[in-house]
Amino acid sequence: MAIELSKILETEKKFRQDQVYRAWFDVNVDSYEKITTLPKDLREKLKDKPWLSVRVHAMHESKRDNTKKALLKLSDDKLVEAVLMGRKNLTQAGGRDRYTICISSQVGCGMKCAFCATGKAGFTRNLTVEEITDQFRFWQKFLAERSLGEIDNMVIMGQGEPLLNYENIKTALNLILKYTSIGQRQITLSTCGIPVMMDKLAADKDFPPVRFALSLHSAIEQTRAAIMPSHQPGFLDYLVGWSKKYHQMHPSRAHFIGLEYIMLGGVNDGPKDLKALMTLASKLGKVKINLIPYNNISTVALPTDFNESPKENIEHWHTSLINAGFVSTVRYSQGQDIAAACGQLRNAVEMKEALLKIN
Ligand code: SAH
Repeated sequence: MAIELSKILETEKKFRQDQVYRAWFDVNVDSYEKITTLPKDLREKLKDKPWLSVRVHAMHESKRDNTKKALLKLSDDKLVEAVLMGRKNLTQAGGRDRYTICISSQVGCGMKCAFCATGKAGFTRNLTVEEITDQFRFWQKFLAERSLGEIDNMVIMGQGEPLLNYENIKTALNLILKYTSIGQRQITLSTCGIPVMMDKLAADKDFPPVRFALSLHSAIEQTRAAIMPSHQPGFLDYLVGWSKKYHQMHPSRAHFIGLEYIMLGGVNDGPKDLKALMTLASKLGKVKINLIPYNNISTVALPTDFNESPKENIEHWHTSLINAGFVSTVRYSQGQDIAAACGQLRNAVEMKEALLKIN
């Protein structure tokens, strides 16, 4: 793998490092040689390093909505996916669109959630700090070159489990926050919930206070364990204790814990499931419950056993949660036709290999 920039800069003065990172996020600069403020010998050292550690291998554009999925090739030819989702700027007439990017933290994922296509391909490796940061830089450049608009939201909900690539995610987030105008509250880290890493996060003052989202998917131990192999016995009780620590560390009103809940027909979408969700959520302090219609993964992976919960049922849950005083939203899924929606990220190449193995 290519040498990371931080290794090359290790012996340089802080302000030099700062100059390079500033240039990284400057859309008018596209090579290390063009950072004219740097001394010649340093530019020489950086000369052979590619400006971006990710290259477009394939680009898919949705015909239904303003979503694009980039299949990005890394220096060791591994592939990873990153998604761009545009929304019309409604507040400013004639204003440029606003974009959310969804980035990956690992090549593949080892968590094996039963409803997710990424998990089916298994885990390959962690992404480096540069590969994480460069998904942001890639889309930033893409938008700037086409005068399309700006990134105003970033979710770490692509391939991988971010808390299992903790240090690299942390460093990448600190770089993005320091050198771009995106703010902490415009970034969401989503995790399937790994207690030892959640403890580390709650105690880590250097981890930027970005929004935290937990992939809950069931408030009943048995059900959650059945669909999420990473579930540890007693996790729901642990979550109640953890949420207290989390809120103590982030007392601001804006800090809520996001709970993600995929509505799987007949699995976790019945009256007792809703009751359990309300009981658990009421013990977690400020929460926002995001109901997610299940994105079918049978087009990108293996035939699956899951069905969508009926639309009326999702609406019923949504209204019930709101009436019970919870903050709740239903996630509008973008990019389903190009397999860019949640849980559908799975590199086409690996997918073909998986299918070959079965046939
Ligand atoms: N490993 C992290 C981040 C990746 S998953 C996590 O578990 O949170 C990002 C989100 O997509 C999670 O909430 C996940 O549960 C959801 N997701 C996975 N498969 C899905 C599917 N088939 N339909 C809808 N959402 C899905």
